[in-house]
Amino acid sequence: MATKYDPSVLQEYADRLYNRAKRVVVLCAALGFLGGLVAATILAAVVVWRSPRAEPPGGWLLLSLPVGFALGWAYGRGKAFQFRLEAQRTLCQVQIERNTRPPVPAPAMAASQPPRGITCPKCAKSFPAGTKFCGHCGSPLPAAPGSLARASE
Ligand SMILES: [Zn+2]
Repeated sequence: MATKYDPSVLQEYADRLYNRAKRVVVLCAALGFLGGLVAATILAAVVVWRSPRAEPPGGWLLLSLPVGFALGWAYGRGKAFQFRLEAQRTLCQVQIERNTRPPVPAPAMAASQPPRGITCPKCAKSFPAGTKFCGHCGSPLPAAPGSLARASE
């Protein structure tokens, strides 16, 4: 038997994508920070190696950390947006399916609603369904409320 459609799976997938979108920004920013640290260390090492008497460029380190962090953060934002887009597309699929789903059969609808009586159009007193005339003012009552609503749909 074929796999059945299950909207909860898509919903969970979308939730996971959103969680991943949240994490990926932090992760990429941290990686960018580390990348900046590594790049600055390598640069400093190269400078010191080429001219041992030179001062290690501490300014580069200070600059590369926020730059690496910002680059990582921006990259993470882009990634997060892709995840969110994918999540929204998934949710959209769920919504499309929900909208195009055939309406619930009438008997099931009727069963889910509590039985309602007929309200007199003149004095607004309620009587059990099937009552022909108002017991209060005697005016004729309309047919069962369900039949009227169903015909207008
Ligand atoms: Zn009445």
